[in-house]
Amino acid sequence: MFADAAEEITRRAPACWASGRCCNFKQTGHLLFVTGLEAAFTLERCGSPGRARLDAALRGGGCPFQVLNLCGVHGDKPLGCRLYFCDRASFVWQNDVYERLLGGIRSLHTRHGVEYRYGEWRGLLAQVMEHGDLGVWAGGGGGLDGGTGLTVEGV
Ligand code: SF4
Repeated sequence: MFADAAEEITRRAPACWASGRCCNFKQTGHLLFVTGLEAAFTLERCGSPGRARLDAALRGGGCPFQVLNLCGVHGDKPLGCRLYFCDRASFVWQNDVYERLLGGIRSLHTRHGVEYRYGEWRGLLAQVMEHGDLGVWAGGGGGLDGGTGLTVEGV
C-alpha cells in the first residue's frame, strides 16, 4: 500500500514546501486518522516516542515524531501523512486515492485477524504504546512529504 502511494505521488507530483505545518494539527485545524495496524507498524519499526513526548505533542497540538519541521519516521509514517499535500491542485484526487489504499489496509486487518480500529493518530499511538513491548524511538529526522487521513476538523 505504501509503495502504491509512492507511485501515485510520483505520477501526480504535487508540490510540497516541507514547511512541516501540516504536522501541527492544532495550527492547521487538521486531525490525522490512522488504522491500528499503521500505528503499530510505525511503533514497531521506529520505537516509541515515550509518554512524555506524546503528552507534549498533545498539549502543543503536534505530532510526537516531528523534529523541527521534519518527519522523524519518514519511511514508516502512516498513509494519511503520505497522501496529504496542502497543494490545492491535489485536493481533487487525494480522497479517492486515500480511500482506495485504506481499503487495502482494512483488508490486511481482516486477513490477519487483527481487530480493525481507525482513530486519531496520537490516541491510537497511546493505545499501542500501552500494550506493546516497544523499543525507544531514536528521534532522527527524515524529510517530510506532506502529511488523506488528514481531515479538516469538524468536517
Ligand atoms: S509526517 Fe511524520 S511528523 Fe508529520 S504527522 Fe506524519 S508521522 Fe508525524
